[in-house]
Amino acid sequence: MGKLEGKVAIVTGGASGIGEGMVDLFQAEGAIVIAADINEVAIQRASEKKNVYGLKLNVASDEEWAAFAKEVKEKFGRIDILVNNAGISSEKPYSEIGMDDWQKMMAINSFGPFAGMKHVAPIMAEQRSGSIVNISSYTAQIGQGFNHYSASKGAVRAISKAAATTFGRQGVRVNALFPGIIETPMTQNLSASKELLDQLVRATPLQRLGKPADIANAALFLASDDSSYITGAEIVIDGGFSAQ
Ligand code: NAD
Repeated sequence: MGKLEGKVAIVTGGASGIGEGMVDLFQAEGAIVIAADINEVAIQRASEKKNVYGLKLNVASDEEWAAFAKEVKEKFGRIDILVNNAGISSEKPYSEIGMDDWQKMMAINSFGPFAGMKHVAPIMAEQRSGSIVNISSYTAQIGQGFNHYSASKGAVRAISKAAATTFGRQGVRVNALFPGIIETPMTQNLSASKELLDQLVRATPLQRLGKPADIANAALFLASDDSSYITGAEIVIDGGFSAQ
């Protein structure tokens, strides 16, 4: 029997990279998975998988989150798992980052997870059970990345802990993951040269970049009842990079 048998899971940004890895693993473990994404073409592709339902959602929209949470609850009867994974990154140097850049990054990467919890946690609270996993980044924990991306992920770190205390008494757990560099379309599209990536691998104790499965496996643990006494926790998944 799968670890998520009978559970209903939402994965935002579920149509690509880390999110896609989680959708596939959760489905394989018996969950019904809603892959929520802004990319309609990719959602269509995700919907072809057994027990996976692609739904369009812009995580930066409070209104869309409200309608989406209601729709999922009505269609599937319950929501057991929410992974706030959708996000964007940027390569702009700090000298070029303006208020528009800042606000867009914060809207998607920080308000997105906040709004997800705002609309889904009360549904979980009514059930007296639920697990939320927020995807931050190792940049929220180390002194690298003087930019809006790190700031947005720092916000995710803060609201994850706060949500754990806010919703814990109602049976809802909230934990956060902090990936290092993971091989996904997000990082493949970076202009970072192969040389830079090789350098990073050399600087990583476990001597490789991460894979979506590395994050999905940890998300599965936190989503499943195997972690039923864990809330407010943080797991760094970066091959030891930030431990140095
Ligand atoms: P990705 O670009 O492959 O996938 C991100 C997904 O989010 C895409 O499907 C995209 O369409 C979706 N998305 C973007 N904006 C959205 C919006 N407004 N509403 C709904 N969906 C939206 O990226 P990834 O590498 O798989 O990253 C997933 C998460 O992991 C992100 O939050 C990212 O910041 C985080 N992360 C990634 C790395 C890495 O190295 N890849 C490292 C640390 C953290």
